[in-house]
Amino acid sequence: MLNKTRRFLTSLLPIDPNRRGECNRCGSCCKLPYPCPFLRFDDAGLSSCSVYLFRPPSCRKYPRVAAENLTPQTCGFFFVAPEQIGHRPAPGFEPAAVQVRTAEEPG
Ligand code: SF4
Repeated sequence: MLNKTRRFLTSLLPIDPNRRGECNRCGSCCKLPYPCPFLRFDDAGLSSCSVYLFRPPSCRKYPRVAAENLTPQTCGFFFVAPEQIGHRPAPGFEPAAVQVRTAEEPG
């Protein structure tokens, strides 16, 4: 329940840009910590949400960050370390010039 509360509170934060993969409709996240009353399964065993268009941010963004991925065994999403994908600054990004002041210079 603590994890669910934390996911609810952090659900307005952005998704980790290092998240990869896609939902495979396993439905595992919809059972945390108990099965959601809106969870449905089709004949093939794939999950769906009966209120999909109105689902809360914590469901839309699951797993938002690696630390909140509570179903890594079945979830189709995964996270890569930045060094695995290489660091590429955003287009047009210029590092800020370093300004050094001495004590004698006026503010
Ligand atoms: S655990 Fe991952 S793959 Fe499974 S339903 Fe949730 S988001 Fe989709």
